[in-house]
Amino acid sequence: MFSERNLIRVREGNKKPILEEGEYILYWLRANRRMAWNHSLDYSIHLSKKFGKPLVIFESVMMDFEWSSPRLQQFLLEGICDTAEDAARIGLIYWPFVETKEHSLSEIVPGILEKASIVITDDFPCFFLPEHAEKISEILNCKLLLVDSNSITPLASYEKSFGYARVLRPKLHDRFVESYVHRSNPKPNPKGIPSSESLKKPKFLFSGKKEDISSYLQRMSSRFPNVLPVSGKIGGRKEGLKLLKKFLKEGLPFYSEERSEPRPPERTKSSYLSPYLHFGMISVDEIVTAVLGSDPQIDWSPDILNHSYRGKNEGFFHPNPNINSFLDELLTWRELGYLLFYKEPSFRKDLSILPNWAQLSLEAHRGDKREYIYSKEEFEKAITHDPIWNAAQKELVLTGTIQNYLRMLWGKKVIEWSSSPEEAFRILEDLNHKYAYDGRDPNSYTGILWCFGAFDRPWSPERAVFGNIRYMSSDSTSKKFKIKPYLEYIRSLEDLSEPQLFK
Ligand SMILES: Cc1cc2nc3c(=O)[nH]c(=O)nc-3n(C[C@H](O)[C@H](O)[C@H](O)COP(=O)(O)OP(=O)(O)OC[C@H]3O[C@@H](n4cnc5c(N)ncnc54)[C@H](O)[C@@H]3O)c2cc1C
Repeated sequence: MFSERNLIRVREGNKKPILEEGEYILYWLRANRRMAWNHSLDYSIHLSKKFGKPLVIFESVMMDFEWSSPRLQQFLLEGICDTAEDAARIGLIYWPFVETKEHSLSEIVPGILEKASIVITDDFPCFFLPEHAEKISEILNCKLLLVDSNSITPLASYEKSFGYARVLRPKLHDRFVESYVHRSNPKPNPKGIPSSESLKKPKFLFSGKKEDISSYLQRMSSRFPNVLPVSGKIGGRKEGLKLLKKFLKEGLPFYSEERSEPRPPERTKSSYLSPYLHFGMISVDEIVTAVLGSDPQIDWSPDILNHSYRGKNEGFFHPNPNINSFLDELLTWRELGYLLFYKEPSFRKDLSILPNWAQLSLEAHRGDKREYIYSKEEFEKAITHDPIWNAAQKELVLTGTIQNYLRMLWGKKVIEWSSSPEEAFRILEDLNHKYAYDGRDPNSYTGILWCFGAFDRPWSPERAVFGNIRYMSSDSTSKKFKIKPYLEYIRSLEDLSEPQLFK
């Protein structure tokens, strides 16, 4: 069932007609790589039943997107294998296509689009996807509808984006009950979707079998062929759900106190879910549901919400502080980024979005002498004078992840040791997107921009290079945390790395 209350999530991508002669309703899956908890899928099923046409779900992986690498491609292909299995189990038609040097997307897309009555696609607001949706809308003969399944609250329900978490928080809390009640469907029901037996399957589809992934990877080109998959990092919904289960047991009970501690992964208390969220392999709706239901002492329902904590980062969702702390990151901080991109399509992904005080501060200190200046190549090779910074950079390159406290330090130091704020921004954007599994996301930008003062307040004392922007140092990091086990973990990774990148 698609609730009418969720129509706020749907917007028109063009003014073209619904084609009655079309053979099917087409859901072009571009971001929500899952067959459950997905508003785009719920709406596609609803339209298929309403118009009495079969539903086809088409997913494509482009070969040569910006920052593409075997690391990202393998993660995506592993995701497709899980989606294919889920679609078959539910009884949905799923056509995955992976672009290779032999067969390009343009070879099969026109044939698929021309038979559609309506095309539905995911309204992901960042990376190349908004421009891609515009291109689809132009080449289509039929109507294009975009569906927002990015978070628990509909992005269109907010009048604008917000510069501070404290401004978004009360608005998010006000929308929470309604959004929670109208969450996406955990078990899509195909009953009533017209038969698709007469549909002709296009050629060259990906089999959706894990054993075919490596031969596909060999036939794909990419921008960064040397950025290789990380052993043990597996893409797809199954792995995302496994991590969620592990987190509920081993991470969440300690989250509010220990999330920031830099530790080896087996002792880290954060969820590691950001890549799965970024690639849409898991949904915010299901994480929220699982987290709220995880405390055996409390049978959670919206009556448990404590409205006297409206707008606060604690106490609102649940009496358990770990649950509140986690949901504040997953909802408030994550949605700040998604709203920024959704509401400001003209945002050019640069420093122009910084608050006035931060822009003035950076400008006033533009000419300050930098104690160290490194090039992008030196940063990339992790050869700065600072062992903690180098370790964080090595973690990024070798594992595709950075521990979340060190990620802030990592960003701050690139600002301190670059020739200008603009250069620092470009280096951070490039390194983050090239190596991190969760890169190329609205939160990549909000995270990087936070280092430059976005979503933050001015801090004293005024310092060289930073002015009033919050300063962080490796010295205080090593005083605040027991950093040795983390550094040893990175050293062990280096010893195992193949090729030995940092030797
Ligand atoms: C310089 C810099 C770059 C960053 N780049 C990215 C990026 O490319 N992609 C990305 O998803 N996040 C990015 N972040 C935000 C944050 O570091 C990660 O979301 C978090 O570390 C992911 O780890 P986790 O899944 O274990 O988080 P958990 O602590 O388990 O949190 C759960 C989820 O909440 C969201 N979340 C948590 N912290 C934040 C935050 N500060 N801002 C926004 N959302 C948050 C994420 O979706 C995360 O998966 C960046 C932060 C900085 C300072």
